[in-house]
Amino acid sequence: MYVKELFYSFQGEGPWIGYPQIFIRFYGCNIHCSYCDEPDYAKDRKNVSLDWVQEQIRPFLDKPIHSISITGGEPLLHTAAIKELAPILPFPLYLETNGLLPDKLLEVIDLFTYFSVDYKPGFETEFSAFMEILRGRPNVYVKYILMKDFPKKDLEFVAQFLSSFDNKVPLVLQPVTPFANVYEKATVDDVYRAFDLCSKYLKDVRVIAQTHKFIGVR
Ligand code: SF4
Repeated sequence: MYVKELFYSFQGEGPWIGYPQIFIRFYGCNIHCSYCDEPDYAKDRKNVSLDWVQEQIRPFLDKPIHSISITGGEPLLHTAAIKELAPILPFPLYLETNGLLPDKLLEVIDLFTYFSVDYKPGFETEFSAFMEILRGRPNVYVKYILMKDFPKKDLEFVAQFLSSFDNKVPLVLQPVTPFANVYEKATVDDVYRAFDLCSKYLKDVRVIAQTHKFIGVR
């Protein structure tokens, strides 16, 4: 299986922020976001075995690990590996996904306890199908990366979608952390504008930045 890295740190985003996790970061993504902080460099790709994963996890077994983040890149590009891995992983699994591969989600959905789903503007059909599969599941939230001068129609789509879907699924507005091709933060005005727009439709909207970047952990 192709991973970039396995490490122990703290969840830096969303409703489970601050919990200790083991992160298994799979290699590769099916899209290219302008703000991506995990670009695909072939040199970072490691072909590893189940034994390697068990060996890497062993030092953390006595820690109060909340869950294992299966992340990327896009981890659902690796469903065969996830199926092999899940039985040997000793903590609940937390999926961090761009929400674009509903067919792949169906293959592994029952292996996961927590779901962090991005809404990527321009992929409304895929996002809607993805969320439909998650309907009724606990521990699901949706994340929208808030850019400077964000387009109102993108955010309104996700707020309206969630309000008709299940308006208790938290929507996390995550102000972008400048990286790669993104040089500017969302402004305070952007943050309030986004919150006010979404809270017209939804009961649970939160503004949460990437805390791991502030405290300097991975
Ligand atoms: S979906 Fe995530 S990993 Fe893929 S390009 Fe976008 S930010 Fe990067």
